[in-house]
Amino acid sequence: MVFDDHPHEECGVIGIFAPNEDVARMTFFGLYALQHRGQEAAGIAVADGQAISMHKSVGLVSQVFTPNTMAELNGDYAIGHTRYSTTGSSLLRNAQPFMIETIHGPLALAHNGNLVNSAELRNELMQHGVGLSSSSDTEVMTMMLARNGGATWEERIRTAMSKWIGAYSLVILTRDCVYAVRDPWGFRPLCIGWLPGGGHAVASETGALQTLGCEAIRDVQPGEVVSLSNSALKVMQALPPMEPSAMCVFEHIYFARPDQTWDGLNVHHVRQKLGEELAKEISHRRGSDFGDVVIPVPDSSVPAAIGFSHVSGIPYNDGFIKNRYVGRTFIEPTDSLRKRGVALKFNVIQENVLDKRVVMIDDSIVRGNTMGPLVKLLRNAGAKEVHVAITCPPIAHPCFMGVDMGRQEDLIAHRRTVDEICCHVGADSLYYLSAEGMMRAVGREDGFCQACFTGRYPIAVDLPNVKTGFERGTK
Ligand code: SF4
Repeated sequence: MVFDDHPHEECGVIGIFAPNEDVARMTFFGLYALQHRGQEAAGIAVADGQAISMHKSVGLVSQVFTPNTMAELNGDYAIGHTRYSTTGSSLLRNAQPFMIETIHGPLALAHNGNLVNSAELRNELMQHGVGLSSSSDTEVMTMMLARNGGATWEERIRTAMSKWIGAYSLVILTRDCVYAVRDPWGFRPLCIGWLPGGGHAVASETGALQTLGCEAIRDVQPGEVVSLSNSALKVMQALPPMEPSAMCVFEHIYFARPDQTWDGLNVHHVRQKLGEELAKEISHRRGSDFGDVVIPVPDSSVPAAIGFSHVSGIPYNDGFIKNRYVGRTFIEPTDSLRKRGVALKFNVIQENVLDKRVVMIDDSIVRGNTMGPLVKLLRNAGAKEVHVAITCPPIAHPCFMGVDMGRQEDLIAHRRTVDEICCHVGADSLYYLSAEGMMRAVGREDGFCQACFTGRYPIAVDLPNVKTGFERGTK
């Protein structure tokens, strides 16, 4: 994706059991609501009690599916996937769901997350003569399920879970059931809801479930396997949940849609609180008279800028207008357009920043390659001063649990101090929210993974092995 300096979520998943409904169409609209979690490939697999049919391809959900492809997908059970990845010929090969025929019947699987021990599991499979066609840990998981002993799929899933280490929120489709599976740490989200016409749906975010009209939504708990094949849900606690849990705090900061709610915490509200905490911390250090206008980098920083303005008393206004879809095109810009950099993605409303001390709110700086151009855009538009305020601590450590932030040496906060980053981006000042402030905003002291800020990983990671095991854009 061009001109973007955010962490990238690996994907969104959805699973539906809805007797006598057009589940493929329902899955399509659910995937639409999850499009922000991955824009580069999408797929739907549907089972009719006997066989599984599937369509997947590269592109946005609206590009991948047509009335003709949807007409082939019939049944009462479905899973879907929308995927983020970066480049290349391997895109289609790694698109999901991943489907195989097994001795127990057809099996399809869609995954959000990343196993930290996939290299070891791959070796084990290959030593048993299993051939693998991709570098994806999703294929490894599917093959392990296919060859595990056990009388039922629940047993085979439980056995596999005892060997999987890392982040996995899965939807699994067999000929007559959808299973929702979440790792014992609860890294990546997965929610379940009751469909008004009967049946159930699971998805990465509640927004997708609301789109389908779901009621009584709850989280799939860490370590749970939930079977969707009947009017009643079947819930199995396959592994004990880890204490404390380790949900990715970045879901609140950046990934999730603002209408998402977890544990009673609405994402928009949390982002507003992140802005409030940031304003309190900055005011404490330098008083409140340091800006004339607060502007967000759209879209995810809008609630934080509202909160910041509320506490600091500095008026909120729009400063950037985002050309929303430019980063999501497969048509590469020409050299002369590329030179325009972030200016291709953002226009400045000059009247709102001219001769003003601008406080620009953003949710994160990863590599540090777009913040400088954004500051420059504001200065070119006549801003008198530009102060940058970030609603999380510096990201100095890579993620091995399914979020693409690049390698440690790519992270600007790993290589430079805050003052050096400020100088690098050309701002008058730069502030990051403290880890304590971030946790106050999410309303809990623990239960969240914060490893990209602290370097303290909730699971033991064998760094050299994991670094080569996680191939960017191959999953
Ligand atoms: S390391 Fe960061 S991005 Fe990765 S799971 Fe933990 S909090 Fe989320």
